[in-house]
Amino acid sequence: MSKLHPVSLVGAGPGDPELLTLRAAMRLQNADVVLADDLIDARVLALIPASTRLLRVGKRGGCISTDQAFIHALMVREAQAGHRVVRLKGGDPFVFGRGGEEVDALREAGLEVEVVSGLTSGIAGPAAVGIPVTDRRHSPGVILVTGHPGEGRAEPDWAALARCGLSLVIYMGVARCAAIADALLAGGLPAHTPAAVVSAAHTEKQRHAACTLATLAATVAREQLASPALLVIGGVAAMADRQPLPQLAELQHLSA
Ligand code: SAH
Repeated sequence: MSKLHPVSLVGAGPGDPELLTLRAAMRLQNADVVLADDLIDARVLALIPASTRLLRVGKRGGCISTDQAFIHALMVREAQAGHRVVRLKGGDPFVFGRGGEEVDALREAGLEVEVVSGLTSGIAGPAAVGIPVTDRRHSPGVILVTGHPGEGRAEPDWAALARCGLSLVIYMGVARCAAIADALLAGGLPAHTPAAVVSAAHTEKQRHAACTLATLAATVAREQLASPALLVIGGVAAMADRQPLPQLAELQHLSA
């Protein structure tokens, strides 16, 4: 039997296709079949050759989603048929992407796996609006944490996170932001702690708002900031751009 191709778990980055790694772009070019999550930007999907089979296997909370076991079985079947399989995931495959579970399933089936890291939204998203997730003037580090641990799984220890003195970047937290803010306040984080919300970073729908921990939930509601979004809590959040960058036309007007 000829040797099977390793399955590539490829990070698509947060949206803009220019943020793909060269390796990710090469894997997409050479794939026979791509299994794509539903958060993948249409401009990234447009890079997949027309001759490549594209299977959408969304896992979005609240919507009809493909069972994880089914995704595993599909990848195994395609790889065992000798195809070059790319599993395309938003951001980085190993950051809240179930990448670890998929690696385990593929290895158990006797397949080799390659992980192609991508830009995670929790770092590139805040950066898109001027927030460095670490800045030694504000915090000595950053925590990446989920606001939606999933059915039957333990909630993060918000009181411990409130005390840790690190920037918090919360994925999947926008729908529960009121409860999360309350838990951080109860844990001792001051009400005036800077906070920011970045929605659909690096996509055509990118929006953000800066506020404080006390006004976070009201800001999300007022600005209608929706998933996918990141919450950033801590001094670095105050560095968020205060107003949208001027449009090119406005700049030309100024220099006229
Ligand atoms: N593996 C992905 C995260 C998957 S979990 C990564 O590394 O980025 C899905 C969550 O990621 C969303 O609920 C949201 O919190 C965040 N997210 C993904 N893409 C985003 C984007 N373009 N802008 C803001 N948040 C994003």
